[in-house]
This record gives sequence, structure tokens and C-alpha cells, in this order.
Amino acid sequence: MIFTTDAVVIRERQSGEADRLLTLLTRDRGVINAFAKGACRPKNKLHSSTQLFSYASFTLYEGKSISVNEAAQKELFFGLREDIEKLSLAQYFCEVMCLSVPSNTYSDDYLRLLLNSLYFLAEGVLPAKMLKSVFELRTAVIEGYMPELSSCANCGADTGQMYFDIENGSLICSECKVTSKKLKPLTGAVLAAMRHISNASFKDLFRYSLSGESLNALSDITESYFLYHMPYTFKTLDFYKSIAT
Ligand SMILES: [Zn+2]
Repeated sequence: MIFTTDAVVIRERQSGEADRLLTLLTRDRGVINAFAKGACRPKNKLHSSTQLFSYASFTLYEGKSISVNEAAQKELFFGLREDIEKLSLAQYFCEVMCLSVPSNTYSDDYLRLLLNSLYFLAEGVLPAKMLKSVFELRTAVIEGYMPELSSCANCGADTGQMYFDIENGSLICSECKVTSKKLKPLTGAVLAAMRHISNASFKDLFRYSLSGESLNALSDITESYFLYHMPYTFKTLDFYKSIAT
């Protein structure tokens, strides 16, 4: 059976002498593995379109395993290879997709989030750390962990110092705060950014940024929240953090 789907190469390994084993995030089938025969050879027609981060329309043949017949390239995200910080963050995004997107499911929301994150990272439109926060929190939302950020989950207060409850994804005010809980203090700027990332329509999602200490605090919170709810650890995140500025 032959089928065509848009996909991003989220992992790529050499297999045998010159073949590539790809992991693809597809729009129509979630994460799948596919062989690209001969693609390691520079003159092979699949060489460029089956590199890591390549976005293409893939025509795939499904027998016992899946192999790539053709791949019409749409985007390569060259800018990601310009510096190690961008590259390592892009690899983190891909590892998250590899582990969390199921196969055989329509995955347009994941694919759009990944494509836009790679695009804005490659172009340098937003700070890398901001894109990391958008990616982490929005992935958590897609996975079913939408935080409740309107007011204190206990008393309904919506002013004064607020804390984010990492376990429950909710707000707690300073009156209701319990010290045994995993709570992170929030500034107004960080709370506003979290509300935006959780609730914005997709076209507005990347039109928001923080800087300086606010961005550091946001990054710390989205990462804690994301990792708390994901049943995985990410080697690429450790590497990114070891080199990020
Ligand atoms: Zn309260």
C-alpha cells in the first residue's frame, strides 16, 4: 500500500551501508519509522529530504515495514545548524515528539507546534528560551494537562501574590499556600505569559515574549510542569541546559 503524508524527520540513523532509518512525525499517522534506501549517499534523490529536521511530503510504501518512495522537500530549517544552542534545543523538541506522540493517530496539532517552533528558532524571531517554554507548556496542553490559571483554586482570589502548583496545574494564593506542596511563586508577567501560551489561538501563540529574569522564571516553571507530567526523561534537555546561555 502506498500513502502520502506531510512529515518532519525527527530522528535519523544510518542503517547498513547507505540506508537511513527515519523516525517521522507525520500529520496523518503520528510517529512512524521508515527506511530510506540509499539516502546516505550524497547523490541519492532522498539524501537532502531525509535529513534531521527536514519537512517534506513523503510518499511511503507500506509492506512488512515502511519505506520512502519519494520525498518532496518543503523546508530544511538551515538556521538550526548555525549555532549549537539552537541545534540542541531543536533536538530536544524532536526527542519529545519521538517519545510522546503515539503512532496511527492524526497528529496535526503536534506537527504544527513542532514546525512553528523549528521555524521561529531557525529564524531567530523569538529567544530560544521563550520557544522552549511555549513548546513545553503547549505540548502539556495537547497531552491533556491544561493548567487552570484564572484564580486561586482554593478560595477564588485573583489578586496578590500567586503560586503555581506544579502537581495540579493550578493557582494558589499566599493565604491558601501549603508549604508541603510543590509551589512556584509567580510574577504578574510570568502568569500573563502562561495564560497566553495555554489559551492563545494557534496563530497568536508565537506573538508573545518575555526577557531577562521573567523569561528565566517562566522557563523554570514550564520545564518543571512539563517534566512532572511526562513519564520520560530527555537526554537532549540535559545537553541543551549544559550549553544554553
Ligand atoms: Zn486562596
